[in-house]
Amino acid sequence: MEHLLQVENLVIGFRTAKGTSQAVRDVSFSLEEGETLCIVGESGSGKSITSLSLLGLLPENGDIAKGSIRFKGEELVGKKEEALRKLRGNKISMIFQEPMTALNPVFTIGYQLQEPLIIHQNLSKQEARKRSMALLAEVGIPNPKEKLDQYPHELSGGMRQRVMIAMALACEPSLLIADEPTTALDVTIQAQILDLIDDLKEQLGMGVVFVTHDMGVVAEIADKVMVMYAGEVVETGDVKTIFEDPQHPYTKGLLAAVPNVDDETQELSIIPGSMPSVDDEIEGCRFHPRCPFAMDICKQKKPPVMNVSENHSSRCWLQEVNNHDKSTVTS
Ligand code: SF4
Ligand code: MG
Repeated sequence: MEHLLQVENLVIGFRTAKGTSQAVRDVSFSLEEGETLCIVGESGSGKSITSLSLLGLLPENGDIAKGSIRFKGEELVGKKEEALRKLRGNKISMIFQEPMTALNPVFTIGYQLQEPLIIHQNLSKQEARKRSMALLAEVGIPNPKEKLDQYPHELSGGMRQRVMIAMALACEPSLLIADEPTTALDVTIQAQILDLIDDLKEQLGMGVVFVTHDMGVVAEIADKVMVMYAGEVVETGDVKTIFEDPQHPYTKGLLAAVPNVDDETQELSIIPGSMPSVDDEIEGCRFHPRCPFAMDICKQKKPPVMNVSENHSSRCWLQEVNNHDKSTVTS
């Protein structure tokens, strides 16, 4: 079956003063039309780098060292910048955490919305203006006509974020990549924007890769979840499975740190310690210095990705213990 997006064995290296370090280590996943995959982890997990690499937007000192990224069957790794630029803002769109970095302060909102429509969709100026107005209305911006002639600094943060989403959706992309697009916003606006992305996913049948550190956001928007730690995927599963039956100690830690509004007695547990830097080579499991369940084998041997059930996998030696127990019980 051809996937909307298929990433296989992706390795991303960064050149630093100390040499090359691996920020993303052998990451694989796939995404279908009309599906939202949340990539979740703390900062430094490699989640943003993974999402940036999909569109060839890695920083200067970063390179895809290995692996494959296929969009509708077409290989993107090794493609020329010009070919990637054609895909960006047309078939594939991206929204970032800070809208001010994506919006150009010297051009009006209208100009910035119309440009890609004129370039990618061959609309006339007049048609592009009409479509831009409709787009602003679609993302819930009041008085769209007036907003077209305003500059980014004249709008509030929430409004700018909506404009950026309107820009990202202008060409009705098949794939939307969003990196913490709601983190800087207050909760009400955040909820509205998540709803909006979700609605548009349904309407357009778009695939969404959504990068976040917030399990609350994951619960809100994900179909599938991929948990990353220190450059590696540690657990994947559908959203229900990840919340109801998490297997990896890191995923359990992330979930335990989510405040439960219904439970006033809940004590928030924060995973002790901090994420290793990308340069740190750690023997065995990369999570073992922070893991409350670490066993001897964890310090010596790197755990492989192990299947828990059909669409659920975990990179943890405990899985082998569990699988062994299961097979001893059934045999
Ligand atoms: Fe913890 Fe060991 Fe599992 Fe790593 S492999 S997460 S150290 S139990
Ligand atoms: Mg980030």
